[in-house]
Amino acid sequence: MISRSKQTQKADLPVISTFPVDIGGGLMVGGDQLILMAGPCSVESYEQTRESAEAIATAGGRVLRGGAYKPRTSPDTFQGLGRPGLEILRAVADEFNLLVVTEALAVEHVPIVAEMADIIQIGSRNMQHYPLLWAVGELDKPVLLKRGYMATISEWLSAADHIERRGNQRILLCERGIRTFDPSTRNTMDANAIVLAKQISPYPVIADPSHATGRSDLVIPIARAAVAAGADGLLVEFHPDPNSALSDGPQSLPLTSLSTFYAQVGPIAAACNRELV
Ligand code: PEP
Ligand code: MN
Repeated sequence: MISRSKQTQKADLPVISTFPVDIGGGLMVGGDQLILMAGPCSVESYEQTRESAEAIATAGGRVLRGGAYKPRTSPDTFQGLGRPGLEILRAVADEFNLLVVTEALAVEHVPIVAEMADIIQIGSRNMQHYPLLWAVGELDKPVLLKRGYMATISEWLSAADHIERRGNQRILLCERGIRTFDPSTRNTMDANAIVLAKQISPYPVIADPSHATGRSDLVIPIARAAVAAGADGLLVEFHPDPNSALSDGPQSLPLTSLSTFYAQVGPIAAACNRELV
């Protein structure tokens, strides 16, 4: 197998072209289409997830996000539904012909998440959980690798290399914001990282303006900026009723914003010769 690693690549060397990743359903990430992965932070119930999936599909979305295994900072908060959550996700995604992206929080989750999801998410807190990276590296399944919120770009790309060395080349990097000195926002979207990761690695880059900002009023503007910077896709939290969300309500857009989201982000994608789907 030809290694797609790029750790020896320096910023002053020629830009590496993005290797598009087939995520199934006729969708390629890193090509002409700019893929929106939308849905709630957490799968909370069948009704909440089905309502989300229906609205996303109606708006033209193709990929449903939602966490069943949740990496929560406090053990006193909602920890996710676990396996029943995966079953809900799969059922509603199949009903509306959507793909599923969801997180495997631990090595022991990998087999069931691989069975139920189309894309396996590795969360920010787990970016350097090497046994987890090796486990998803053994699969023939796309992996969305979130950047650690205190990881350098080089550390992030090395984490991707751990997956790639096990044989899985279907890697989607995800810039989800890094911790900075300013508490005004939850994190800071590192637009440099979107541009640089695409220059020095072959992996497509997804941007997550929800976790990058922590504020729903900033999500659309930062999504637009990320697309303009060259992001190949967006991971965005939407909820039927953000005020009652069991996780990440303040950064979640209501489902009623989906049409506004497409109307405001679509033209930026089009200006970059891409179609937002
Ligand atoms: C999420 O996508 O809901 C999530 C937990 O993201 P992160 O790992 O980036 O915090
Ligand atoms: Mn979240």
